[in-house]
Amino acid sequence: MKKFLLSSAIILGLGFSATSAMAQSYPGEARFREIFKELIETNTTYSSGNCTIAAQKMVDRLHSVGFSDKDAFVFTNPDFPKEGGAIAVIKGTSKAKKGILLMAHLDVVEAKREDWTRDPFTLYEEDGFFYGRGVSDMKNIAAYWVDNMMRYKEEGFKPKYDIKLALTCGEETTGAFNGAQWLSKNHKDWIDADFALNEGAGGSLDENGNRISLSVQGAQKVYQDFTITTTNPGGHSSVPKPENAIYDMADAMKAVQKLEFPVMFNDANREYFTRMAKIKGGEVGAAMEAIVKNPNDKAADAIISKDNAWHSMLRTTCVATMINGGHALNALPQSVHTNVNCRIFPGVSVDSVQADLEKAINNPNVKVAIVEPRSIATPTPKMGKEFLEPIEKLADKYWKGVPVIPVLSTGATDGIYTSAAGIPTYGFSATFSEASGNYAHGLNERMRVRSLMEARQFQYELVKYYATH
Ligand SMILES: [Zn+2]
Repeated sequence: MKKFLLSSAIILGLGFSATSAMAQSYPGEARFREIFKELIETNTTYSSGNCTIAAQKMVDRLHSVGFSDKDAFVFTNPDFPKEGGAIAVIKGTSKAKKGILLMAHLDVVEAKREDWTRDPFTLYEEDGFFYGRGVSDMKNIAAYWVDNMMRYKEEGFKPKYDIKLALTCGEETTGAFNGAQWLSKNHKDWIDADFALNEGAGGSLDENGNRISLSVQGAQKVYQDFTITTTNPGGHSSVPKPENAIYDMADAMKAVQKLEFPVMFNDANREYFTRMAKIKGGEVGAAMEAIVKNPNDKAADAIISKDNAWHSMLRTTCVATMINGGHALNALPQSVHTNVNCRIFPGVSVDSVQADLEKAINNPNVKVAIVEPRSIATPTPKMGKEFLEPIEKLADKYWKGVPVIPVLSTGATDGIYTSAAGIPTYGFSATFSEASGNYAHGLNERMRVRSLMEARQFQYELVKYYATH
């Protein structure tokens, strides 16, 4: 990183002072660093960590600035004592709106000391970066929220509407206890809000560290696997017959390959393509403008869909991901199973996608089964002015000229549970990430120090705005 900074400084003729001049400091950063350090250095992996301990530490901090036991507390499910979380609230003066929910998961992906350059559970600061497990996914955001709640309390800030905080466990593990899911089902009263802010999208930097765009995740596609099965009585391979389970599967998969779902729009991807049209311009920009006006414009679709990410942002997609079949080198296959992974456009039912697959395959002998557990359908979220404008105004203040771009993402965060429970959940970290990635889930996870400090202050102002308007 040092080498990179030096060479770009020479090319730009700027020297290091340009970087430090840009780095502004905001009130309370020393304590924010302490909170962040405490979170990173509390192991919250599934195998050897404990979210309840991390939750307790955050609640202790909240109590230290005047939150009562009723307004900040740890919750656990007795069956999962290590997968606890924290709840906090600053009550609003008005009940006209339900207020805002700040969400973050405390758990992190496994990290082995021997694989990492530095200890993953020690917070390191080197060359303008923080290193440690969870610095980008997502103990940074958990720290913004806790720090912000403490600042509001200390200032005696009286929001018009409730500001709620939910720190949960179990986002990174499938099948284990998930705090966001549990709260949505068992204690919606603790988290109920007009909308929630969570992880899911942030800012992008180019290779030189310049800010390119600031994304807001307005919707998530729904993950669902299907098992496609072909069967046949089989027999000896020395006397083949025309019917064959592998050939049937080949035909079925060619049909899945050709199956193209219709272009659909919701607030998130409509805004995305409307804004990207202006940024991109030219043939691609014109195609984006055209498809927003007419989703059936095949020529525009063809131009945009050359980009796989855009193709996927416009529609439901299904793709073959794994196959196994046959039982001996010298036998006719009796069965073949293929996994088809679909990313379903919000609002489209799992059943209708199953029906579309069956129709495309068009062979009653081929079975299309939904892999359990069936994904829950999330309602199509709105992304109105009252939500976007405050972000745009602040972005203009902090990062002039950087466009705010709503996105429809293919990932799955805890937002699926809260959205399904009627709390529209947006992914917005306000944190700018490297072009080369933050190595979230991977080795040597990192995040720019400046990105963190700016995002913390940005969120402090943003949440305050939402809570008073
Ligand atoms: Zn995460």
